[in-house]
Amino acid sequence: MKRIIVWLRNDLRVHDNPVLDWAAKYGGKTKEILPVYSIDPRFTTRRVEKYDTQKCGPLRARFLLETLENLRTNLEALGSHLLITLEKPEDFLPLLISENADNTLVYQEEICKEELDVEKAVKDAMASKKAKVQGIWGSTIYHRDDLPFKPAEYLPHIYGKFREKTEGTRVRAILPTPKKGELAFPAKKNDLITKTSSFLPDLVKDLGYPKDSLPPQDPRACYDFKGGEDAGLKRLKEYLWDTKAVAQYALTRNQLLGSNYSSKLSPWLALGALSPRQIYHETRKFEDKHRKNESTKVFVDELFWRDFNRYWCMRYGTKVFFEYGIYDRTYYDWKTNMDIINRWRQGKTGMPLIDALMRDMNATGFMPNRGRMVVACYLTMDLKQDWRYGAHYFEEKLIDHDVQSNYGGWAFSSGIGPGRVLVFNSVKQSRDFDKNGEYIKSWVPELKRVPTEYIHEPWTMPLTLQVACKTKIGEDYPKPIACEKYVKTGSAGAGAAKKVVKKRSKSASSD
Ligand SMILES: Cc1cc2nc3c(=O)[nH]c(=O)nc-3n(C[C@H](O)[C@H](O)[C@H](O)COP(=O)(O)OP(=O)(O)OC[C@H]3O[C@@H](n4cnc5c(N)ncnc54)[C@H](O)[C@@H]3O)c2cc1C
Repeated sequence: MKRIIVWLRNDLRVHDNPVLDWAAKYGGKTKEILPVYSIDPRFTTRRVEKYDTQKCGPLRARFLLETLENLRTNLEALGSHLLITLEKPEDFLPLLISENADNTLVYQEEICKEELDVEKAVKDAMASKKAKVQGIWGSTIYHRDDLPFKPAEYLPHIYGKFREKTEGTRVRAILPTPKKGELAFPAKKNDLITKTSSFLPDLVKDLGYPKDSLPPQDPRACYDFKGGEDAGLKRLKEYLWDTKAVAQYALTRNQLLGSNYSSKLSPWLALGALSPRQIYHETRKFEDKHRKNESTKVFVDELFWRDFNRYWCMRYGTKVFFEYGIYDRTYYDWKTNMDIINRWRQGKTGMPLIDALMRDMNATGFMPNRGRMVVACYLTMDLKQDWRYGAHYFEEKLIDHDVQSNYGGWAFSSGIGPGRVLVFNSVKQSRDFDKNGEYIKSWVPELKRVPTEYIHEPWTMPLTLQVACKTKIGEDYPKPIACEKYVKTGSAGAGAAKKVVKKRSKSASSD
């Protein structure tokens, strides 16, 4: 008898799942398969003292629990089950080894240090009990082994070159969902580990999040995110087939309001509740059936950023977390002023667009892509604060947090990553992408009476007007954090500040 222990990680789905597919096909018919997920405290409630953050905030933890519940239901429909434990995987997985069986553990390989450390601990623990261990690649559109180079050794240094070099690389077909009975769970499931067998942990009682830590569902949220592959597949269908919004993506993707300006698929992708390959093939199908246009092309291009970030982290290892990044750009000379960092985190900087974006993320766990670039650039390029205080905060708050895309995105936005250094002017971004201040007014209600012409720079309002619209800057809404670029000279000062940054980086460009 073979026993296959399937350690599920960021691959929480039954569709196009290479690990489940491997388990279904491996070792003939006399076998039993045990899918397991560990809610590891090191990746959930642990506090990261240095950055004063938590690894996973309650919104993402709730999304994870919903995902696990849905996965268990879908596995049960296939005649299987999902064991859930709160113990560390290296402690729990060896307990599943059967003395009367030939044991193998199979899992999806990860990329970054913390995940690799856990992987090593699990491998050691299993090896000490003489179980076999099988890692499987599965988190990208292009399979690692199909790339025309070995990403751990070489990677084109910028995204555009990555796309050029990988053009023509095949995207493997979607794997079939295992058929009913192919994932045979041990017959005496309740004898196995009663505690974990039917256990679906509670956010407060079991995971230890404070009772009132979950903000109520915010009616301003751009989307009603619910965890689980069923909800992810529903959203994919909605975005592609029902609304055909993907056909407008190039025109809408920089907007800040509404559910269809972008796909909103990232939270499901981050936990592997959606397969990136499934999205890729479905988009190609959409192009064949309806239309292939600039928007569908840009959408696929954006999806491949996710692959690039993964291979970038694989190529540079722990350097991607370094203070001055993979190129050691020490000229940035980051500051760490917790007062400034906390004002940024809380959405109280006095810069309306920045505050709106941060409050949106704090309340809903999501922020539009344009916004992520703008707030990251503001914290690092304008306020000169250490980018890691921003990245760790995003890690806590985002429901789509994904180590590679988050740290890649921060490196890119703070000038220490791959490609051109983009220096944004937050006021210009505000005027360009929230022309009438609708997004600002929805998230910063203190400014709702401010006339549109002042909404992007309320500190320039004459005092008489501040009184007339009952919005005194410094009392009802904060004065902006001192920053030469905006405060001394208003947005006109942006040019001077841009020059400073340009001098430091030859490849800099600004927007
Ligand atoms: C500072 C910063 C931090 C970020 N942190 C994360 C993160 O933790 N998790 C995460 O998934 N994305 C992150 N991103 C990338 C991007 O902002 C989100 O993927 C995107 O906003 C998700 O919304 P969407 O699903 O509607 O994307 P869409 O615009 O509809 O794009 C479709 C998919 O393509 C991928 N994608 C799009 N843009 C990017 C990008 N720039 N980098 C990588 N993948 C991309 C995502 O998987 C996304 O779901 C970050 C970007 C920045 C600048």
